[in-house]
Amino acid sequence: MFTFDNSYARLPERFYTRMEPSPVRAPGWVALNEGLARELGLDPVELRNSLDVFAGNAVPKGAAPLAQLYAGHQFGGWSPQLGDGRAILLGEHVSGDRRVDVQLKGSGPTPYSRMGDGRSALGPVIREYVVSEAMHALGVPTTRALAAVTTGETVLRQEGPMPGGILTRIASSHIRVGTFQVYASRDDTDALQALLDHAIARHAPEAEGQMGLLRHVMAAQARLVATWMGLGFIHGVMNTDNMTISGETIDFGPCAFMESYHPDTVFSSIDTGGRYAWKNQPDIAIWNLAQLATALLPLMGERAAAVDEATEVLDGFRDLYAAEWTRVMAAKIGMDDMALAMELLDIMAEGQADFTNTFRALTDAPDTARDQVLNRERFDDWLARWREKGPDQAAMARANPVVIPRNHRVEEAIAAAYTGDYAPFHALNAALADPWRASDANASYRVPAAAHERVMRTFC
Ligand code: AMP
Ligand code: MG
Ligand code: MG
Repeated sequence: MFTFDNSYARLPERFYTRMEPSPVRAPGWVALNEGLARELGLDPVELRNSLDVFAGNAVPKGAAPLAQLYAGHQFGGWSPQLGDGRAILLGEHVSGDRRVDVQLKGSGPTPYSRMGDGRSALGPVIREYVVSEAMHALGVPTTRALAAVTTGETVLRQEGPMPGGILTRIASSHIRVGTFQVYASRDDTDALQALLDHAIARHAPEAEGQMGLLRHVMAAQARLVATWMGLGFIHGVMNTDNMTISGETIDFGPCAFMESYHPDTVFSSIDTGGRYAWKNQPDIAIWNLAQLATALLPLMGERAAAVDEATEVLDGFRDLYAAEWTRVMAAKIGMDDMALAMELLDIMAEGQADFTNTFRALTDAPDTARDQVLNRERFDDWLARWREKGPDQAAMARANPVVIPRNHRVEEAIAAAYTGDYAPFHALNAALADPWRASDANASYRVPAAAHERVMRTFC
């Protein structure tokens, strides 16, 4: 079914633990992403007949299953050993010039599970499926969801016993900032060099040396985070082990799309200090990239000179990010005028306007955006100046989505899935597949949460 060529499994043994997923009792289908299957040159019918593979009960031909080792800074604190605690990389599927990791998430304990059970409840599987596929439809680089299954087993979580699930995640790779960090922290220069060569070959063949890769990752992350910001997306756990070298969004734990705009918005129940608030994401990106640079230093010869060079490269992030953010906001307001864009955000924050609907109203019927804000006088003044400058509304329509995965709709899909009803999940996916056009089918998904539906906290 898959055409495997497992380059990560050819790296030194200390990069991973070879092991198979743990079988589950009674797997059942939740979803197969047939569109993604076809994109990857896979036969949906064959995949549909391979439930045992997506449940971890059978290992497909050509796979070299393993759990990857990594480390990371979690909320700024160093964790010397993390790794795939509940995931198994089956291998790399190659289709044309595309190479993707095929990973089962929720597939049982590994040597990196620490206190965890290696499993996932169905809810997080549903959330990752919905949000990662929505991100893709919104044009955001992201890991994808190929399949979601139930295990027929129960996992114990804070809420009590929950039905288990397994997600099949597709990614350009699962190499993280934390993958570099683990070998740097162990003074394992050979491993670091092997990882660098591997990452360059896979993600940045044109990049030269350590700083070439760093520059490449900086550009990809600047683009990624600016895109998140423009959609009101809050990742929620931007730990260094959750930042990819590929520049894809990874780990949809307590993530959320902001409804009412305020730059300080945080959803994650564990982010008590607001470290990963919406407005902090660009600063966290550069902090994480500095950790990547630090991990690369041992490969760069004399320390002081290497630090100087890395610092100079990192200093470029500010301009890289500013350019991406300017591009994002210029598209959102239909003109290259950052002062005007920031003024609008300020007006929106004053009355906590709905982020998505305000920009879309401005796109489709500018006068109606007035209904979204509190300070109408200030808005009218802004609108007059904006109009005068001749906004490009066609560009705006490609930058301001109609639908996003609103938290209460995601929660609704999860709650229904727990009762065995996947209809709300499938309906939500269908609405999110085409987020740029208003239709009868997506009308209800454009409505912000009512006061009693509002999701203030997310859990991973
Ligand atoms: P995350 O916060 O999702 O990025 O996960 C951080 C680390 O915890 C990773 O090494 C995960 O593999 C591990 N982890 C999360 N949940 C579990 C679980 N249920 N069992 C084992 N390991 C887990
Ligand atoms: Mg993670
Ligand atoms: Mg997670």
